[in-house]
Order: sequence, then structure tokens, then C-alpha cells
Amino acid sequence: MNKWCCKQFDFLIGQAGEKLLSVIATDEYGRKCFQLIARPFEKDVLDEVNTALSNYSPDHTTKGGKPISIAVAMFSPLLYCPNCGKKLSKLIKKNKDEFDKLVKEHLKYSHGGTRVETNGEF
Ligand SMILES: [Zn+2]
Repeated sequence: MNKWCCKQFDFLIGQAGEKLLSVIATDEYGRKCFQLIARPFEKDVLDEVNTALSNYSPDHTTKGGKPISIAVAMFSPLLYCPNCGKKLSKLIKKNKDEFDKLVKEHLKYSHGGTRVETNGEF
């Protein structure tokens, strides 16, 4: 039996903090939502990757002086399950305690504590 809407969504939540695609629970946009995350490597090795990049270019520029800007993770709020299309706000309301537990577990995988307050719209 699926914990959330479908087997694929449960799998993506189980991948939180891992490389490639995952889903985390968050309340950092001023509302409870799930976020799809794409990472080229695990969150745990981010410091090592930053050190390697700094060793390669201490001032974070190319040899021509252009700034090097590298995205190490991409986040996108989800309104619907990317697999089955279920409206996720309904699932969150129905499973509020479980969602709040996931928010605490997934805080370490979010933007690092950055909070963006909105009126509830993205
Ligand atoms: Zn689903």
C-alpha cells in the first residue's frame, strides 16, 4: 500500500537528500508543500564539491575573469503529483501530522533555512 498517492511519489520522497530526482516536504514558502529537487550529487558531499571548486578557482572566475556560477540543486514546488496527477494540497491536509513530521526530517535537504514569505501563491 502506498503511503502517499502512488508508488512513484513514495519512492521520490524516499530519495530525499540523494542525487538525481527527489521530493521533500517543506513549509518554507509560507505554506505547506512538496518540492521536486534535482541534484547532481548527494547533499552530504556538497561541502567536498565546494572545496574542490574553490581549489580549482579560488576567486570563482574563469581564466577570462567571468564569474563561474554553478547550480548544485534545482527546486520546484509541486501542486500535483508528477506521476499520478493527484492534487497534493488535499493529501497534505488529510495527512497533516505525517506531513509535519516529514518537514522536520527534510529540513536538512531544503534551501538551507532560507525562508521566502508569500501570500500563499508561488
Ligand atoms: Zn502520485
